Amino acid sequence: MGNVTTIGVLALQGDVREHLSALTDCGVRAVAVRRPAELDAVDGLVLPGGESTTMSRLLETFDLLEPVRRRIADGMPAYGSCAGMILLARQVLDGRADQRQLGGLDVVVRRNAFGRQVDSFETDLSLVGLEGGPVHAVFIRAPWVESVGPDVEVLATVPRSLQQEPGAGAAEGRIVAVRQGMVLATAFHPELTGDGRVHRLFCDLVRGGDRSLNAATG
Ligand code: GLN
Repeated sequence: MGNVTTIGVLALQGDVREHLSALTDCGVRAVAVRRPAELDAVDGLVLPGGESTTMSRLLETFDLLEPVRRRIADGMPAYGSCAGMILLARQVLDGRADQRQLGGLDVVVRRNAFGRQVDSFETDLSLVGLEGGPVHAVFIRAPWVESVGPDVEVLATVPRSLQQEPGAGAAEGRIVAVRQGMVLATAFHPELTGDGRVHRLFCDLVRGGDRSLNAATG
């Protein structure tokens, strides 16, 4: 894989360009992944925001579902934002019956969890491991994490301050960012805000420079 860290963005659908640009800003080589051979050449993979059901279908069409699953199971670092988080989850509530999972995260997510009245919203929240204060989080028809397995670290929850429309599901305290080993996921879209810190966190993971991980694995 050479000396330059190469991170792919699954480029079947969704906000691929925004992720490529955020990764490039981290100083890694960022490449679009549409074919198994392109997947073979990356050190880590981003699953972008978009529509998880469409991406699931295209992963099968492009013969990428099994190869991506295998790479993740073999320890390739992966980061999913929004639809990407849904793809990485073990189980999806309110998904389509034929939607497929990549695995990697022992979590149950609920699609479009925040309700119709709050299709999209923005809030500031603090994320474990991120220095420099809260991150501005943009949620667009976002999932939340309903439950996590024992090996999953919760990195962020919806803060108390969020103003919610009446009738929407109770959002306060819901889990919206998680990490399990080399797999990171956010229900929101850091690729849309110009704040590169979440992408830098992921790039550090891929480069093997993550301190908490090194501590955990000795
Ligand atoms: N609701 C979308 C899905 O189910 C996710 C939305 C997003 O990625 N912004 O995949």
